Amino acid sequence: MNDLEKNYTHPETYHLPYYAVSSNKLVATLGSLKKEVNCDICVIGAGFTGLSAALELALKGLSVIVLEKDTLAGSASGRNGGQLQRGFPKSPQELIGRYGFDDAKLMHDITLEGIDLITGRVKAHDIRCNLKFGQLTAALDDSQQKLLEDDRKGWQQLGHDDLQVLGRDETQEMVRAKPYIGGLYDAKGGHFHPLNYALGIARAAQVAGCQFYDHTAALSISEGEPLTVVTDGGGSVKAKFVILAGAIKLKGSESMAARSITAAAHMIATEPLTEDLARSIMPRDIAVCDARFIMDYYRLSADNRLLFGGNCNYSDMDYPREDERLWHRMVDIFPQLAHVAIDHCWRGPLEFTINRMPDLGRLSPQVYFAHGFGGQGVVATNMLGKVLAEAVAGQLDRFDVFAKIRHQPFPGGDLLKRPLFVLGMTWYQIRDKIGL
Ligand SMILES: Cc1cc2nc3c(=O)[nH]c(=O)nc-3n(C[C@H](O)[C@H](O)[C@H](O)COP(=O)(O)OP(=O)(O)OC[C@H]3O[C@@H](n4cnc5c(N)ncnc54)[C@H](O)[C@@H]3O)c2cc1C
Repeated sequence: MNDLEKNYTHPETYHLPYYAVSSNKLVATLGSLKKEVNCDICVIGAGFTGLSAALELALKGLSVIVLEKDTLAGSASGRNGGQLQRGFPKSPQELIGRYGFDDAKLMHDITLEGIDLITGRVKAHDIRCNLKFGQLTAALDDSQQKLLEDDRKGWQQLGHDDLQVLGRDETQEMVRAKPYIGGLYDAKGGHFHPLNYALGIARAAQVAGCQFYDHTAALSISEGEPLTVVTDGGGSVKAKFVILAGAIKLKGSESMAARSITAAAHMIATEPLTEDLARSIMPRDIAVCDARFIMDYYRLSADNRLLFGGNCNYSDMDYPREDERLWHRMVDIFPQLAHVAIDHCWRGPLEFTINRMPDLGRLSPQVYFAHGFGGQGVVATNMLGKVLAEAVAGQLDRFDVFAKIRHQPFPGGDLLKRPLFVLGMTWYQIRDKIGL
């Protein structure tokens, strides 16, 4: 028996996300849709993207119906690390090179606005999601420290001089983890309980008149005026506009699905740590990730659990002992946690595009979509959900900047797409291990 097995405590809730067992029950949904209903906008998918768009549209006085095939924010948006990070997975310099200064600046500025949007909603709608500020990206070696310094220069070039490069001692003051030699600190970033935030904005949308049908999968959209969304429970929605929010697979969205691929990411939650132990490892209670391609990321919950994620399963299959792999990564950073119990281990989907930028566009003049937010989607989904709402309301300038990003389908077709993706990602895993 290894250390981790000795630490199993509550087997009945072990594979539930910690967030699901600590959620505020805020929204009474209408359940599965069985009849025909009408609205201005039908949003398919109740993750951050869909909920954010729905809230913005409902606040504009439009009638909005949200369809969710499972439960509200039950997928990536209610299962993630809860880290609020500015920017995109690519560096500012790369995006300036790809899209030009003005568009790259707009893209980066939008993520800063996204953090303000989230903060503003938490205050305006009194959302209890334990929002805290401070986010550190830690360097494990000199080459990572150099990348972080370059990132800061990129942000400076875009007019934002607020990131702080830290040396070893300053980093250790924020997180007592020996492997780190430095880092990049963002006082504006932060962390929160993602499910409670999502349910909070869903509740705010409901107060503004939005209706939610969960356990209702959209199957197809028939063109016409109005559009008709057919659902699996025998019901349908007549709408002027439809928004596909997230990795939505339905008849007619095949071209969109070809441009992304889903992988599985896992997280673990320790039992609540004593106040002394929690402060001894994370004196500043901030969100932390490291600068590797496949990074570790972690933070403390409101009840002092360490919520720890890392690794990624690109085959999208469930392997045994994902918890053990994560536990080893956690104990490498914090040996003092070797005898702390693990209460939860769960998985969630990461949806990648080839160029690692979100894919926004239209399937037809009245059908909008946004998906492919990868592992850095908390801020971007919320903000681009708002940008989708602007587009549907006729304000297209910001939407167009993202819609013109070119996305290619993954090579290999249905048969070879997955193996080729796994092969590519294995190279990045090797690169992380040998420190390239
Ligand atoms: C373990 C993990 C950790 C992460 N950590 C972070 C982090 O710390 N910081 C960060 O920035 N990002 C993080 N991410 C990424 C972030 O969570 C995602 O990018 C973001 O939540 C994606 O939101 P979404 O709205 O696009 O998709 P989702 O949250 O997946 O929502 C899409 C919804 O659509 C529904 N749906 C699909 N098809 C249909 C249909 N046909 N009909 C009706 N409904 C349908 C799904 O059930 C789902 O609820 C993490 C992700 C994971 C999995």
